[in-house]
Amino acid sequence: MHLNCDFLGYYSALGVKPSATSEEIKKAFRTKAQEVHPDRNSAPDATKRFQFLNDAFQTLSNPEARAQYDAEGSASLAEDNGPPVFEPLICSVCKKISAQPRYAIYYQVVSFIVFTQRSVSQGIFCSACGAKAAYRASLVTVFFGWWGFPWGPIWTLPALVRNLLGGTQPPMNNFKILWCQAMYFASIRRIEIASAMALDALNFGAKLSSAERADANVNQLLEALGYLLAVAKSGTSTLPKVWGFGSKTFKVQAIGGVIVAVAITVAVAMIANTPRTAYRHTPPTGAQESKAPAPAPVAVFDQPEVPYPPTGRIRTLRVRRPESEMAPLKIVTATGGFNYYAKLVGVETGKPALILFVRAGDTVETELPIGSYYLKFAAGERWYGEDFLFGPDTSYSKADEPLLFRIEGHRVFGHVIELIKQVNGNLRETPISPTDF
Ligand SMILES: [Zn+2]
Repeated sequence: MHLNCDFLGYYSALGVKPSATSEEIKKAFRTKAQEVHPDRNSAPDATKRFQFLNDAFQTLSNPEARAQYDAEGSASLAEDNGPPVFEPLICSVCKKISAQPRYAIYYQVVSFIVFTQRSVSQGIFCSACGAKAAYRASLVTVFFGWWGFPWGPIWTLPALVRNLLGGTQPPMNNFKILWCQAMYFASIRRIEIASAMALDALNFGAKLSSAERADANVNQLLEALGYLLAVAKSGTSTLPKVWGFGSKTFKVQAIGGVIVAVAITVAVAMIANTPRTAYRHTPPTGAQESKAPAPAPVAVFDQPEVPYPPTGRIRTLRVRRPESEMAPLKIVTATGGFNYYAKLVGVETGKPALILFVRAGDTVETELPIGSYYLKFAAGERWYGEDFLFGPDTSYSKADEPLLFRIEGHRVFGHVIELIKQVNGNLRETPISPTDF
């Protein structure tokens, strides 16, 4: 007497294990259907086989129908002739005999660019294999499931909560497999474990609907459990908690969830704490120049124009510090605006720590050792190399306030600087002479 999960041969028709995921079943069906399809297969029984394959797929691709199918291959006391022989149930993954097998369904959500897919893995699991299946489904869901709109977030949370609580455990399946296992342990005279399992089975029995309980077969199974418990008399112990709320699996998943949540919160807080510094940078205009008193005769500027250097660091003049002592700096410029040659000069040393070039419309992201720096920049259109910068039309400026790069606890304070004309720029700049640059 044993519970056979594949009493009609649906799993073997598809060539999958009873613990196969819904994905594996879909894939197996596609492959087999091509093989057996009457259009391609001239065997006389091809149509019949194709129909059977189709029935198998219809049943096994629906989680509830599949659980019911699995529950149907159950023990029946009445049909046995002679002394019953009890066979133990084995985990569908590791094939070991477990004192606390469960029929469980785990959910996994994966989002693709245009759609979100939900899949399940279900079958009889020992607690260790059940835990692995739950971790796997939840990890995949955490990394690939939540972001798809709109079903990703809607499906992700219920899936994670259900996996956390040991997956969905259909009462009929679990009542029957625990019944089988209790009888097996009783038959090998391990009465204490058998009675603990009988209690477990009765817990699931209590979750059956009244119609299910009225079934003659179920009734016999319930009676047999009562008899087993009466034989075991007192001293019935319960099994250690390895499933659901409070179990080790539950704690590991719950702690993992908390760590992920904290990491996301810290990352968001760090990004949110990077102050945005906007400069109101007004390049010189022709009108200002015309106000100047009688222009002194200037030597004609005849340097050749050269191509712009690429956006990014030109030089780092200070020794790099360890990662833990670096703070981020981001400089953004406007498309169609000016190009910038920028220096970050240490407030204490008076020496440049970093020199950058940012082409118009580009963004540069880099790092500086923690400390305070003055930002000086030269702006212009045509580039004549580092000796002449943007030629005679170069405008030189310096930010009025030094920029502070610091670390407080786990928070890193860097700067985002927008070298774009800003109405609400919160830092001011002052034009400086080329010699002060
Ligand atoms: Zn196992």
